[in-house]
This record gives sequence, C-alpha cells and structure tokens, in this order.
Amino acid sequence: MSATKSLKKEGSELAQANKQIEILSNGIFKDELPTFAKKIKETNQLPLRPNKLEILQINVGYMCNQVCDHCHVDAGPDRKEIMTWETMEQCLEVIRNTGAHTLDLTGGAPEMNPHFRRFVEEASKAGIKDFIVRSNLTIIRANKKYYDLPDFFKKHNVHVISSMPHWTRGKTDKQRGDGVFDKSIKALQELNERGYGMPRSDLRLDLVYNPSGAFLPGDQASMEKDFKKALMEDFNIQFHNLFAITNLPIARFLDYLIASENYEDYMYQLVEAYNPAAVENVMCKNTISISWDGYLFDCDFNQMLELPVASSVKHIKDYNEDLLNDRNIMISQHCYGCTAGAGSSCQGTVA
Ligand code: SF4
Ligand code: SF4
Repeated sequence: MSATKSLKKEGSELAQANKQIEILSNGIFKDELPTFAKKIKETNQLPLRPNKLEILQINVGYMCNQVCDHCHVDAGPDRKEIMTWETMEQCLEVIRNTGAHTLDLTGGAPEMNPHFRRFVEEASKAGIKDFIVRSNLTIIRANKKYYDLPDFFKKHNVHVISSMPHWTRGKTDKQRGDGVFDKSIKALQELNERGYGMPRSDLRLDLVYNPSGAFLPGDQASMEKDFKKALMEDFNIQFHNLFAITNLPIARFLDYLIASENYEDYMYQLVEAYNPAAVENVMCKNTISISWDGYLFDCDFNQMLELPVASSVKHIKDYNEDLLNDRNIMISQHCYGCTAGAGSSCQGTVA
C-alpha cells in the first residue's frame, strides 16, 4: 500500500532538505564512493555549466490528490505550498520575454492550483512552441470540477505528459495508491477521444515510467513497445512516447531506500552505471526551475533539496536570462540519478 501522508505532515526528519543533503554527503560518500563533483572532474566537466536556456519549468505547488511512494516532491493533499497569482504574473512576464522554447508546468498536481486555468490561458498566448502540463491523470477523474480538463487541454494545445508506472493494475496501484490504475486508464481513454496520443495527431500525449523499486529503468525503446502493445490490446489506448526516468534518491524515494535498507546498494548501482556522455545533456544544462514561491533552481530536484541557483538572480521578479546563464550548477550525489546508464531527465533518457 502506498503512503497516505507526506513526510512533512508525518514530521519525518527526511522532510528537511538539509537532512537529505547530510545523508547524501556522508556515509559511503566519505570514504567508499566518489562524490559527483569528483566523478565529473575526471572528465573535465567540473564546474557544471549551463548551455542555452530552452526550458522553463514552473512548479505551481506541492499539493496533489495522490501520495505516491517514490515522489521526489513529497507531494500530497496535505501540502499547502501553492503559487499565488502575483507570482504567476511575474512568471508570465518572463514567459513573454524568454528565449526558451518550452514551458513545463509541474507540481504536485498543477491542476489543483486555483489559478491554474487562468495561468494556462494567459501563458498559451505567449507563443511558446511546446507547452507541457505534467498531469497525473487521476486528477481528471478526481472530482467533477476536473472532468472537462481534456477539453481544456485541447483548447489550449497543451502537451500532456503523465506518469504511468506500469500497464498492470497491481504494479501501478502499489506505487501510486489503490484505484489509481483504473482512473488513469479512464483518463487516457478520454484524452484519446479528444485526439490526444493518436498517430499523426498534434495533440501530444507522452507517458513517464519510473521503476517501482531500488533498480534502474530498463531500455526506454523496448519498454515503450511493451507499454504500447499492452495498453492497446487491453484498453485500446494509444500514446506517443514513453519516457523512462530514474528515481533520484531524495524525499520519499530516499525514505523508501533507507527504510528498505537499499540505500547503499542503490547508490552503488547509480555510481557504477555512471555515464560521462550523459553529463553533457542533463536537464539543468538547458532548464531553469521556478518554485511555487518564485525562487529559481537548476532543476526540480535541487528545488526540493533547497539548493538555489548560484547566481545574483535568485527570484523570478529579478529574472535576467543572461545573468542566470552565467552560473555554475549546484550538484550533489543525487545527480548520479541523472547520469546513470542512458541518463535521465524529465523527458526520458539523454544519452
Ligand atoms: S502524482 Fe506526482 S506529484 Fe503527485 S504524489 Fe505522485 S509523483 Fe508526487
Ligand atoms: S539533479 Fe539537477 S542539478 Fe543534478 S544533474 Fe540532475 S538536473 Fe542537474
């Protein structure tokens, strides 16, 4: 059974970012395994520097209708951090003037932010090429007020990216909670009915797979084939691409690793699978992540670890793309999750 409360609500010490950093910086990384900084130095990739900014990722709040076991946000119904309209207006100003071609809204469940629709309506007018909403699917079936989301997404030509840990009920519900699979299937069928995910359709629908335990994802292309075959045969569902994402050892996944006594083995796996070629394309190289309260981070993971950008520009209200691009990226041992095997980003493998 998956969790019912966030670590924060439970009062767990792992809800504190500094506790997570402390764990990631000590233990096996004191004398057994190389730190991420040491590892990338071997191939002259330290300091890690950004390339051209391509993606603005905005986290509009940590509230979610689910409490998935692996969640790096530690999201849940009990999280109250929600982006205000004032901060959204500051984001809109940046969206209208950015050189980035992709806008990526995430959460929590972004749809639960009370200003979500107004924000999408305004942001979609800015002419950004790829406008992504990370929807957990079940939100579409959570409450009547969300039933029209597929039409709303279609109206604003939103690119929907959704988590789907497996094509079977058992594995999905184990990671994400009872009843998640059935609601997700229903939501996918509704998206398909609007044209989402259909071959040659411009209405993009992609799925995200992440492993249900302390292991790395398998080959993305062959998993995509398996997902497509099973979802078509069992439910007549179609989608475009499957992104395989490695679980990073932070928040609830770190809690799971420690509680199941898998932490050290998992870190060994990540370090052994280190792929220097993946470093060139980690997502912090082309992304700025904005938190619910407007602060700027190299990625959503650093946001959760409260590692702000190493720049004089710290907040969206002071946004300056040139200044921000001239920074060193903040790294720690969680970064090994982005460089293991074929690499991992919010859009799947990178190497
Ligand atoms: S749906 Fe996403 S944000 Fe919500 S708890 Fe699950 S992993 Fe976290
Ligand atoms: S965790 Fe963030 S900072 Fe570290 S490599 Fe991945 S994207 Fe970059």
